[in-house]
Amino acid sequence: MSNFNQESVLSVHHWTDTLFSFTTTRDPSFRFRNGEFTMIGLKVGEKPLLRAYSVASANYEDRLEFFSIKVPDGPLTSRLQHLKQGDEIIVSRKATGTLVIDNLEDGRNLYLIGTGTGLAPFLSVIKDPETYERFEKVVLLHGCRRVAELAYGEMITEKLPNDELIGEYIRNQLIYYPTVTRDPFRNRGRITDLITSGKLFGDIGLASLDPAHDRVMICGSPALVADTRTLLNGKGFVEGNHGEPAQFVVEKAFAER
Ligand SMILES: Cc1cc2nc3c(=O)[nH]c(=O)nc-3n(C[C@H](O)[C@H](O)[C@H](O)COP(=O)(O)OP(=O)(O)OC[C@H]3O[C@@H](n4cnc5c(N)ncnc54)[C@H](O)[C@@H]3O)c2cc1C
Repeated sequence: MSNFNQESVLSVHHWTDTLFSFTTTRDPSFRFRNGEFTMIGLKVGEKPLLRAYSVASANYEDRLEFFSIKVPDGPLTSRLQHLKQGDEIIVSRKATGTLVIDNLEDGRNLYLIGTGTGLAPFLSVIKDPETYERFEKVVLLHGCRRVAELAYGEMITEKLPNDELIGEYIRNQLIYYPTVTRDPFRNRGRITDLITSGKLFGDIGLASLDPAHDRVMICGSPALVADTRTLLNGKGFVEGNHGEPAQFVVEKAFAER
């Protein structure tokens, strides 16, 4: 049996000239935990061209969603950005990744720190009822350069609070904190600077990060991941992994080649 399913593109949404999202059909045999990534791609000639992608839809939804960069000369995304409804896409039958709540010890507040397309895994984590059963407050931080890159903001603030399954959790427990570095906006600055200065905690009304009761997931550029890991280690946080739950977990949103 092949390790891949063929799925059909159901919708495509372009956020900016560098970011887009798309949804596809979902083979019912494809199982994943919220926060995981899988391999997706296109057939180029006879060969599959595959890349790692976080699943942005929740594991109880009947379509799959992906949030993608457009790298101008990128082998996959230079093609993927032209997807349209009805096109075929290859999706691995397996998913994996460290950004699952099972890799975290119990705690009071869960911080989800994503930059750019690093938001994607957290879109499924914030739709998971279990997230709100395990944590009192869930703080979703999304950092970008430009306001236009703050994809999914409207879904988080307008649609999810009215969702039948998770609306009440979202209204009572989710704090969404988007921030940008290059445009005027209500929240400005790099996430690590907002944590270090304490500005974030003043804005959201929570005490500053403490390994005794805060848990953190990070997904962003290799630099963001490295900086945040250093910051958390400095505060006494221990990094978790599969089978070894601890106080924070990380995943690079992409690899530098
Ligand atoms: C665990 C994991 C999960 C990932 N999840 C996603 C996801 O949900 N959405 C997504 O768009 N990409 C994701 N990526 C990156 C993805 O695998 C590809 O690198 C990306 O789709 C570009 O593919 P490409 O073939 O066009 O270019 P590549 O040759 O793969 O990349 C070229 C260069 O583009 C830059 N780049 C690649 N991806 C990104 C990105 N997402 N943001 C900013 N710069 C980037 C890097 O500098 C990279 O060296 C993930 C990567 C990993 C390792």
